[in-house]
Amino acid sequence: MREKWAKFCPRCGKKTDELFDSLCKDCFKQGILLIEADNLELSLSVCKNCGGYFKGNERTSIEEAVEDSVKKEIRKKYGYGCKVEIEGLRKEGERRASVFLVAKAEVKGVEIEERGEVEVILKRGTCERCSRIAGGYYAGIVQIRADGRIPTDDELVMAEKIAYSSLGESDFVSKEMILKEGLDIYVSSMECGRRISRAIVKKFGGAFSESRKLYGRKDGRNIYRVSFSVRLPGFKEGEVVEIDDKVISVEKVIEGKGIEGRDMDTGENVLLSKKELKGAKRCL
Ligand SMILES: [Zn+2]
Ligand SMILES: [Zn+2]
Repeated sequence: MREKWAKFCPRCGKKTDELFDSLCKDCFKQGILLIEADNLELSLSVCKNCGGYFKGNERTSIEEAVEDSVKKEIRKKYGYGCKVEIEGLRKEGERRASVFLVAKAEVKGVEIEERGEVEVILKRGTCERCSRIAGGYYAGIVQIRADGRIPTDDELVMAEKIAYSSLGESDFVSKEMILKEGLDIYVSSMECGRRISRAIVKKFGGAFSESRKLYGRKDGRNIYRVSFSVRLPGFKEGEVVEIDDKVISVEKVIEGKGIEGRDMDTGENVLLSKKELKGAKRCL
């Protein structure tokens, strides 16, 4: 019987069956460095107002940022995906934090596991959202009105609630104005104005339309502000309407013209034109 050809590791001289990049498994493993803390140079800004952590303008957390950059480095170096588990976070003060982690990757079929510590520099500042809020910034106005009548307080309270629950992470309401004919909600983005308008119409019915106005230019681009005109549905048959101290039940809606109704106190039949209904409120 012929003896199997023996291979030797050129670094440690050990006899081995299998070579990885011409080295034995142990020597190959030694040459791999998953976490190179010095190369990472990770810095995040911390908003002194809301306490959020940001990489550029994107909200993140210390752990998430470290995990992402370790994974990215490993992929760049070895072309492999890996698993990163965060073991702990130590904040050493205002300007620095350390993250302890375990990185696991399979490089050329060899399982590598490495523990390490990555340092993150923290820079204090004010995030975009907070500085915009402070500056009264808005990009859209949601104008809540009702068709041929004034919205009720209940409707406005509900619409306001819907507006706040439709806000995304970076959205905000910069101001609200109660008007005779309804409510204006000033919001931080066009998308969020549209989302709010859609949600209000979904709840109440009615419709909304958009119109945009050129507001200025920034970095060579036109900046628009968008108004969303939300119209809640008008009166319906069977509803009770309050107008000039009179309470009137709606008997018939004459589309585009007004309503036929009955005065609840006198029993008299009344005809109210669209114009007369302008100041009317629905009562429950
Ligand atoms: Zn070796
Ligand atoms: Zn902030």
